[in-house]
Amino acid sequence: MAPTKEAVLKALGTVQEPDLGQDLVTLNMIRNLEVSGDKVSFTVMLTTPACPLKGKIEADCRNALKSIEGIGSVEVKMDSDVPNDGRMRGLVETPIRNAIAIGSGKGGVGKSTVSVNVAVALAKSGARVGLMDADIYGPNTPTMLGVEKLPPPNGPRIIPAEAYGVKMVSMGLLVKPGQPLIWRGPMLNSAIRQFLGDVEWGELDYLIVDLPPGTGDAALSLAQALPLSGAVVVTLPQLVSLEDAGRGLNMFKTLEVPILGVVENMSFLEMPDGSKMDLFGSGGGEELAKATESTFLGQIPIDPNVRIGGDTGKPIVDAYPESPVAKALTEIAQKIAQKSSVAALGTNNTLPINIVE
Ligand code: ADP
Repeated sequence: MAPTKEAVLKALGTVQEPDLGQDLVTLNMIRNLEVSGDKVSFTVMLTTPACPLKGKIEADCRNALKSIEGIGSVEVKMDSDVPNDGRMRGLVETPIRNAIAIGSGKGGVGKSTVSVNVAVALAKSGARVGLMDADIYGPNTPTMLGVEKLPPPNGPRIIPAEAYGVKMVSMGLLVKPGQPLIWRGPMLNSAIRQFLGDVEWGELDYLIVDLPPGTGDAALSLAQALPLSGAVVVTLPQLVSLEDAGRGLNMFKTLEVPILGVVENMSFLEMPDGSKMDLFGSGGGEELAKATESTFLGQIPIDPNVRIGGDTGKPIVDAYPESPVAKALTEIAQKIAQKSSVAALGTNNTLPINIVE
């Protein structure tokens, strides 16, 4: 007996989407279901191409179908439709689905490194990604991506540079070399609005915003000028840095920007014998996440290739994708994407995913 569509849907109805806590059929994530003889094919529409559970969900679907009598070949396509953060709607003209700020309590902790590598990792997964370098004190993402200048503007519209599949604009590219970057509150606000309004981003799933460090005027006015859908705070493992990071987290809380989580950078150095050496203390990022009831997104080890890649415009997730640092950064990017999709779904009254016909 050939399987029926109903039997297939019933079986797939037992497969859970772990983040959303419901099954794939209820979430309307099963698309284009076709049953022809003993052959079954369908598409699973995920909420992000960077879904870390992609493999598990596909395996769960295949397992669930095994119990159906008479089933032959099963073709599963994995696709994605990143949900639009409800808060962004009407606030920006450009179709940016999620704007995610990367902040830190102080400078030099690796905030730009995380911003650049998360952006590149998301782009590698197939997402449409923009990177806005708003760190007015040290706009170094152009160097990290090997970008020297922006393409010629299209009339009044700024065209972002493109590197490693990421569209990027930096404060550092908007001023002449050698010109001091002195920004005051109102200037900052208008610059940031110009960034959002005048840049031809095109449609983006994620806009990663590299914020200035700290909780001073610059960071605050930037965070206020942007309709942010989530924020990530980067910290080092030691205590002083954690106190600073705690203030950064509070700033986002006060602005009612959802905290996606805490990243601990330069957590340890891997020694030739495989042991780990804690140069800057240990475990602090996790403690901070606990104390602030936010998610700990992961630890990034120390690797000289991170700095070398940063200085030569070769992000480590692209240059050494198999290195422990690149893997840690890619996992962090996946968690950010996953959490921002869950948060975006929470801002929408209806699920973005269409009903199964
Ligand atoms: P921030 O944006 O917080 O000021 P950066 O991302 O510019 O910090 O990082 C500061 C310096 O530390 C850069 O030279 C960068 O290459 C280096 N760096 C950052 N993270 C790591 C790491 N995990 N291992 C080695 N060097 C790192």
